[in-house]
Amino acid sequence: VVTSVMDTSTPFASQEALRALLRELIEARGESLREFGATLARVIDPDARPFTRAYIIALRDGKRRITPKISHALFVLAAMEDGASELQARARKVQVWAVHDLPPDAIVLGKARRCALPGCRTTFVPVTPNQRYCSRECRQEMRRRRRSTRG
Ligand SMILES: [Zn+2]
Repeated sequence: VVTSVMDTSTPFASQEALRALLRELIEARGESLREFGATLARVIDPDARPFTRAYIIALRDGKRRITPKISHALFVLAAMEDGASELQARARKVQVWAVHDLPPDAIVLGKARRCALPGCRTTFVPVTPNQRYCSRECRQEMRRRRRSTRG
């Protein structure tokens, strides 16, 4: 979507094209200008202080020049935006039960599996790749069963 504005492989994009990309990103990300300023600064340097709202407006309106560092960060954000839309396109809406709060637009990447304890009917999305049981209780119950069949 975002890359439609320009060929992002072009190293020397015009200020005008960069401003268009900046405007598209602001729109696509749905952040406030202040939030966007923080995001953009942290793409350049994770420890950077956020760009102010006024600075973002100046960049957007052509009052300040878009530097090579900022234009690189814009390309990075554009690529991430495309990645996010690809993920959203693959994602389907489902109804789930969650132990933790999930924002309504969160994408769950894990695959569901059945609990490995025979008789447990729980299906869950594991927290770690090796998690076989839905709960500590099921893991302990399996251990108990193994012990009692051996003993
Ligand atoms: Zn279980």
